[in-house]
Amino acid sequence: MKHFIPENIIDEIRSRSDIVEIVSEVVVLKKAGKYFKGLCPFHSEKTPSFTVSPDKQIYHCFGCATGGNVFKFLMETQSLPFVEAVKILASKVNVVIPSPRKNATESRQEKERETLLKSNRRAAEYFTATLDHPQKGKKAREYLESRSFTGEILSKYQLGWSTPNWQDLMNALGQKFSHRDLENAGLIKQKDGGSSSNYYDRFRARLMIPLQDLYGNVIGFGARIIGEGEPKYLNSPETPLYKKGRVLFGMHLAKQPMRQQKQAILVEGYFDQIRAHQKGILNVVATCGTALTPEQAGLLKNHVNSVVLVFDSDSAGKLAAQRGYQVLLEKDLSVKIGHLPKGHDPDSYIQEFGPENFLQFIENAKPFIESYIDDASNSGNLESPAGRMEVVNQVLPLLAKVKNNLERSEWVRYLSEKAGVDDNALLKELKKALTQNQSQVKVAPIRSLDKPNPELYLVHLLLSNQQVARKIRARVSLDEFSDPELRQIGELVYGLLDIEQPVQVDRLLDQVERPETRALLSKIGLKPIAFDDPLKGADDCITELKKAHIEKKIIELKRLRNQADKAGKIAESREIHTQLRKVQHSLIPG
Ligand SMILES: [Zn+2]
Repeated sequence: MKHFIPENIIDEIRSRSDIVEIVSEVVVLKKAGKYFKGLCPFHSEKTPSFTVSPDKQIYHCFGCATGGNVFKFLMETQSLPFVEAVKILASKVNVVIPSPRKNATESRQEKERETLLKSNRRAAEYFTATLDHPQKGKKAREYLESRSFTGEILSKYQLGWSTPNWQDLMNALGQKFSHRDLENAGLIKQKDGGSSSNYYDRFRARLMIPLQDLYGNVIGFGARIIGEGEPKYLNSPETPLYKKGRVLFGMHLAKQPMRQQKQAILVEGYFDQIRAHQKGILNVVATCGTALTPEQAGLLKNHVNSVVLVFDSDSAGKLAAQRGYQVLLEKDLSVKIGHLPKGHDPDSYIQEFGPENFLQFIENAKPFIESYIDDASNSGNLESPAGRMEVVNQVLPLLAKVKNNLERSEWVRYLSEKAGVDDNALLKELKKALTQNQSQVKVAPIRSLDKPNPELYLVHLLLSNQQVARKIRARVSLDEFSDPELRQIGELVYGLLDIEQPVQVDRLLDQVERPETRALLSKIGLKPIAFDDPLKGADDCITELKKAHIEKKIIELKRLRNQADKAGKIAESREIHTQLRKVQHSLIPG
């Protein structure tokens, strides 16, 4: 390892340090013979397998097989580079590390860095003092209180407030720092073409959220407006300290819990992260509105192998999640995704349903690919060969990015079951596409005949005749519609039936928000399917619909059984098999 500290000094520091003392700062140790034992800080366990030897000055965990010396322990538990760990111990054991000889550029850069750190720290102190100020910070405190951010969490995150005035920060820090220093730190700006006196504060009338590096140093700010105004968030410009794509918000607080839980939860917003932390969910970091970069993924990879994405459920959030997935996959991270109910973000979800439910939600997160395949097949038209092909082609580029062959063939099989295409043919085409770098495949679908879609027919029938509609209402529940648009139309019709109102397409159209649903509804209204015997037609469609559900269930059970078989869970597999047989029997007409 390249560093400037002489070997003899390092030996001196190591021999003067006591590993039992250092470990005890993090782990409760109990004496056991000539060793000390405690609960491992690197994996979660109930009986201690983390062992420290004072004689050898080393530690080892028999549970997760990590081990090292006193330097390694500090590096691992505090996520420090070697030199930093050595420095910390040096000051504990009173060993002076001689300063390295530096060239002029190096010392200038170091001095600049120190000034930047100092000015950011001072600015953070100034902003927190302003937030605490009885008058100046009143509005901001009220805002934070209205969102239930009060007390300890404010000081933990050093949240602050910048006044609406043009030069308050500049005047407050002007004694200690030159305008040039403050400008370099991104705290003040100069008017275009102005003289040196024309500086002004970059952040005014904003809630100040310090951005911190891995060690908790303030390196910049995110600043949120309260109430109306643009932009909603303003960030520090890039400086030698702060590079936007290299920071994850909350990392200095989350790195340790992430290691212990072997999982990181990635959210989008500052307040999603802060809320989670406030409620005791500690392994959470936020991207803060920027697309996830390889550097950020690398940061995560330094601590965990597994990431759960919890992004907003709008289309921007979906796209961000999909991009994020690819970046994380490049770093060999395993990625799951949780879809919050519409209109929720992690902050609002935790507030409304509590941290336990959020954790349950994380627990239920699906592998990203699975969720993506489900999404594609649910929104695609699996009834036509072209539709099935479209679904396959939509998933293929992501599948091609899965490096692990075994894992990839698992997902190919899952996709083939979901989309109803032959998985051998799909696999062959996928292989070809991978080697030829194509992004499209052509696969022969199993079901060459187009089946009519019973859901669509039912909606036609719902809109055709009140008597038939009532009959359908009585036998088909809304969640039996798998197509979200058809389901929404069904819901509106059911609503009208329940209040004994006539079902008219034009009235329904007023109540539909989504353009796609509106288009579908108007199409049905314009080109209704004529049934010879609508009541009999409804009967047939309902039977078909129920059958389709059972078939879906069978596919799912088969998948679960395969999974159980693979994992060697014989009892579980047998149990699923029994269920499967029951479900299959229900398909046989009685
Ligand atoms: Zn362990």
